[in-house]
Amino acid sequence: MPRLIAHVDMDCFFAAVEVLDDPSLRGRPVIVGADPQGGKGRGVVSAASYEARKFGVHSAMPVSRAFALCPQGVFLPGRMGRYSEISGKIMEILKGFTPQIEQISVDEAFLDLSGCQRLFGEPREIARKIKTAIKSRLSLTASVGMGSNKLVAKIASDLQKPDGLVIVPSGEEKEFLALMPSGKLWGVGPKTADRLKQMGLETIGQLAEYDPKRLETVFGKMGTYLHERANAIDNDAVSQGYQVKSMGREHTYDEDTGSKEDIHRMLLTLSEQVAASLRAEGVKGRTITLKLRYQDFETHTYGRTLETAVDNAIEINAIARMLFDKNWQTFRKIRLIGVSASNLNQGEDQLGLFDDPKKKIKNEKLDKAVDEIRERYGRKAVKRAGEM
Ligand SMILES: [Mg+2]
Repeated sequence: MPRLIAHVDMDCFFAAVEVLDDPSLRGRPVIVGADPQGGKGRGVVSAASYEARKFGVHSAMPVSRAFALCPQGVFLPGRMGRYSEISGKIMEILKGFTPQIEQISVDEAFLDLSGCQRLFGEPREIARKIKTAIKSRLSLTASVGMGSNKLVAKIASDLQKPDGLVIVPSGEEKEFLALMPSGKLWGVGPKTADRLKQMGLETIGQLAEYDPKRLETVFGKMGTYLHERANAIDNDAVSQGYQVKSMGREHTYDEDTGSKEDIHRMLLTLSEQVAASLRAEGVKGRTITLKLRYQDFETHTYGRTLETAVDNAIEINAIARMLFDKNWQTFRKIRLIGVSASNLNQGEDQLGLFDDPKKKIKNEKLDKAVDEIRERYGRKAVKRAGEM
């Protein structure tokens, strides 16, 4: 029996939530991300509505470029707390279809619906029910892809966005993938994509026909993996639990900085944001990573793995700051700085670095209070002494 896997992906989620909360934005180009500062901003776009995409704006684009393409756009800073809240509601709706659900980001999940057909109908009917449930309860649209494995479902959900519904019938997976560019396969980054191109393997179909032994010679284990996936072989299970790999925040400076005080302040702000996201998702991270980009764009990351997972700003900041102080080449100015937590688990409460339990409880209480106030009054309402 082939499996029935669905991939559900919300349509330009952050922008859609902004429109939901402020209907006057409907039909307008909404761009969520860094402040464009009249074209001088140096951060990046994290999401763009379809109206903004018509101007060529897309996520991960420098916000200055977005501003040049679409100066009339509505630029918003983004509200992670609100997105997480809606995300929780979406996942609750999806759990009404099957407990076999794997959330892979704030707005995406896989569902293993094998054996649910008697309950909910044929695949197309189930997909419609999922879309309708989300639409009617949250007034947001989702795109759904379905197939016999995760790879096919994920690629299918992207094909007819927004409000898409694509079902790949069992037995047609290989043909479905054949004409897609090889870069659509998981694990194919820009470097691998270039290498595949040089080898004349631009489509998944060409990759599927290629000699697997030669792929293995060139790419090692990855070659075998790619050959299997290109042949639509993906037995990866839908694993329950939260699968987000990391949570991070970055800041691009308006002007490259060599000020240690500035950077320390920013590390605290970023650590607080990362801590707030972890708590909003109910997870803790064991590995804290610092990202440094120098003015010439050379980028370094430094990580530290802890005995126990953490979700509070003080501990995250302490590690990020230690990594920074240890690794910064002080004669070089910094363009971008980032803090992230990975190695996430669903936080059992263990004592962390600062293992005075009373102090820890106090830190947690303080962090929660800060979250609540910020949720209500906005980010700028509360600042810690170090951020001033
Ligand atoms: Mg999405």
